[in-house]
Amino acid sequence: MHLKGKTALVTGSTSGIGLGIAQVLAAQGANILVNGFGDADAPRRAIEQAGQAHGIRTAYHGADLSKVGEIEDLMAYAQKEFGRVDVLVNNAGIQHTARIEDFPPERWDAIIAINLSSVFHTTRLALPAMRQANWGRIINIASVHGLVASVEKSAYVAAKHGVVGLTKVTALETATTGVTANAICPGWVLTPLVQKQIDALAEKSGISNEQAQAQLLGAKEPSLRFTTPQELGELAAFFCSPAGDNVRGVAWNMDGGWVAQ
Ligand code: NAD
Repeated sequence: MHLKGKTALVTGSTSGIGLGIAQVLAAQGANILVNGFGDADAPRRAIEQAGQAHGIRTAYHGADLSKVGEIEDLMAYAQKEFGRVDVLVNNAGIQHTARIEDFPPERWDAIIAINLSSVFHTTRLALPAMRQANWGRIINIASVHGLVASVEKSAYVAAKHGVVGLTKVTALETATTGVTANAICPGWVLTPLVQKQIDALAEKSGISNEQAQAQLLGAKEPSLRFTTPQELGELAAFFCSPAGDNVRGVAWNMDGGWVAQ
């Protein structure tokens, strides 16, 4: 249990992928600082349950990651409560779909702020203590859209390509230290974020939810199934394991074959 005594901050861990990753890291013994919006009690209980065997500690600090001041408060809170962040999982993200000429500029700004700029801010604030400890893991949840594009996702694709680029720079700037930075690029994962897209597709096309799911998967994912938050958590745990010590700057897609086509 190589994460015993270490602390992981997983942004956006009140839901979906972030919650799944936090549960896997807790099961490896990490204390977890939960972040996000909405109900935090249920996710915290689920994370504590996953780490029960190790008597892990959890705390919650809500922060709107589109605001630099709130990110600074979150990182200060992490330092005060846990000493430092050993594993930083930049996971929080939002999505909006529209053609470029119809894309509301304020949605562009929000997506760039939350999906990209927040990764820069948490990284710059976590790095000094990681360097001092000569150990740290920065795991950025990008997307297949950090590697390839889709129509009507301009801000999301731009932000996720930015996350992949920022991950590589972080990896290079820490290459001679015990700190590593890598990105994970999921394909479809059935979370509230994607459920909204399925609901919209079902409504627009007048088809059932199951048909909309099948259509979504059939269009892009050769495996014809969703990746699970648990599977993504296991990949994050690999980056944190001794086997991941010299894995640096990769953008690892877990996408059922999406970008192999
Ligand atoms: P989700 O909607 O289930 O969860 C998003 C989380 O981010 C929630 O905890 C929410 O509270 C938090 N969040 C949103 N805005 C925030 C803000 N301003 N400040 C702080 N927290 C905020 O989404 P998900 O599907 O689990 O997505 C998680 C990440 O994975 C995102 O970065 C997303 O782009 C990425 N991703 C998802 C998929 C997928 O198919 N679900 C695929 C590829 C990449």
